[in-house]
Amino acid sequence: MSPSDPASDCIFCGIVAGRLPAYVVYEDERNLAFLDLFPWTRGHLLIVPKAHVDRLRDLPEESHAPYLAALVEVCRRVERLAPDYNVAMNQGARAGQIVFHLHAHVIPRYGEENPFAVPHRQRLEEADARRLIELLRPPGPG
Ligand code: 5GP
Ligand code: ZN
Repeated sequence: MSPSDPASDCIFCGIVAGRLPAYVVYEDERNLAFLDLFPWTRGHLLIVPKAHVDRLRDLPEESHAPYLAALVEVCRRVERLAPDYNVAMNQGARAGQIVFHLHAHVIPRYGEENPFAVPHRQRLEEADARRLIELLRPPGPG
């Protein structure tokens, strides 16, 4: 990797390359899982594809199934720590992403309050639902 490579200053690429230390719990040809250094709960894990991509939408199609398989395997192992856990991905700074190398969090839960709970949720309104459906339609011609 050249110093001008965008991945050269990526922490998770450093871990994948063995340049930075990590407590690895799972590895296959394309993926790596290791303990989060600042865990929300005991056993908080991160699963990354070895090849650098910023976010899920950038993951090449041939990596989709292997990445999901790695995530499932890690989830199975996490159940040795706690039967319940969160699987989460932050995509972009406003969603809380601080490391811009795709990763899934697997966070074992031991009865703490749900950090994903939004205090005031309002029922979806019909008009907005219709606007959203339009915005989220598959891209069409023209
Ligand atoms: P994000 O907010 O980007 O979804 O999550 C990044 C995660 O990476 C955070 O939970 C943070 O604690 C973790 N993290 C940051 N730096 C390191 C590191 O050097 N090693 C490990 N193992 N985890 C890290
Ligand atoms: Zn990276």
